[in-house]
Amino acid sequence: LDQNFLIDSGVLEREVRYSEIDEQDTVLEIGPGLGFLTERLARAAKKVIAIERDKRLEPVLKGELSSFSNVEFIFADCIDIEWPKFDAVVSNIPYSISAPFTFKLLDYSFESATICYQKEFAEKMVTEPGYPNYGRLSVMTQYYFEPEILEVVPKSAFWPQPKVDSAVVDLNPREGMERDKKFDDFVRELFRYSSKNVRNAVQIAFKKDIEDNRKVDTLGIPEIKELYKKCFG
Ligand code: SAH
Repeated sequence: LDQNFLIDSGVLEREVRYSEIDEQDTVLEIGPGLGFLTERLARAAKKVIAIERDKRLEPVLKGELSSFSNVEFIFADCIDIEWPKFDAVVSNIPYSISAPFTFKLLDYSFESATICYQKEFAEKMVTEPGYPNYGRLSVMTQYYFEPEILEVVPKSAFWPQPKVDSAVVDLNPREGMERDKKFDDFVRELFRYSSKNVRNAVQIAFKKDIEDNRKVDTLGIPEIKELYKKCFG
């Protein structure tokens, strides 16, 4: 079930601080586990809604947090259900759902997201065109958010200790950014051919003829937007 619990209280406290939540905010937490982060969120926020897949944790969580009246648990797979309204999301997520969780975030509007990811995944989100780990995830994340790695968290901060290091990422929604599902589809199709040149990729993916010898994975967001307009504008 991807259960590695963050036990370093310094990191837990900094996550709450980075998120800048206050007593006005409803906070969503994915995968509360044993409730270490949940408790700190409950102290800082108006309300915490925590979605946990493992029903076995219900007695532990409800016991640990029994003194807080502002915590609500939903026992379900967070990918399968609709999320209630929230102002901020703060979570040490299970890494197996990193991609579906991040794409699901795009369906909601909120003020801030402070998420602990596997370090390599976090690096993919913030990387620049031309680097080997640049791809669809980088484009989508940077199109909708201003992602920033706030700190690297060593594996020793978790119990049981995982094989990989982690990183806390801030995903700030870009001001005034509207969801554009057509653009999302365009990026997904285009990056199926990320190592080809644009001319070939666009020919295969969209049956369009555009003379362009740049490689797809060297295009930054402004260039991708321009190409989108050329194809469908
Ligand atoms: N946030 C906790 C636990 C991290 S471990 C901490 O910081 O210590 C990840 C947690 O996510 C586990 O409790 C696991 O049961 C839960 N989980 C795994 N897949 C999930 C899913 N699809 N939806 C909701 N919770 C999930």
